Amino acid sequence: MTAYKILYIEDNPDNMRLVERALKAKGYILHGAIDGLSGLEMLESVMPTCILLDINLPDIDGYEVARRIRKHRNSEVRHIPIIAITANTLKGDAEKALDAGCDVYMSKPINIRELWARVEAFMPDDDFLK
Ligand code: MN
Repeated sequence: MTAYKILYIEDNPDNMRLVERALKAKGYILHGAIDGLSGLEMLESVMPTCILLDINLPDIDGYEVARRIRKHRNSEVRHIPIIAITANTLKGDAEKALDAGCDVYMSKPINIRELWARVEAFMPDDDFLK
């Protein structure tokens, strides 16, 4: 089984730990970035299979991170699926995340089963698991 890499851009250490534990349990390798710019910087070296993206970040927000990923000079990076994870539950936030280039949207608090399902949906082996 391939150990897929996932990049999680998140400034909250509790969420980072929670997600790391949950994804490790499923055999994924988690790479963490604590702000938007360091997340962007890691993209090409890590080349994750999917990106989990917090929206409220200390430097540039997740919407801007998503826009920069979708405009990245490396086409492989431009096509990495992005799952937005945010505490913003106001109507319109999901739409904003999708407009910025995110593929799906999850709200906090993080539900582990939902996280597993969302991540798995973007894994190339998905067909074999059905
Ligand atoms: Mn945050």
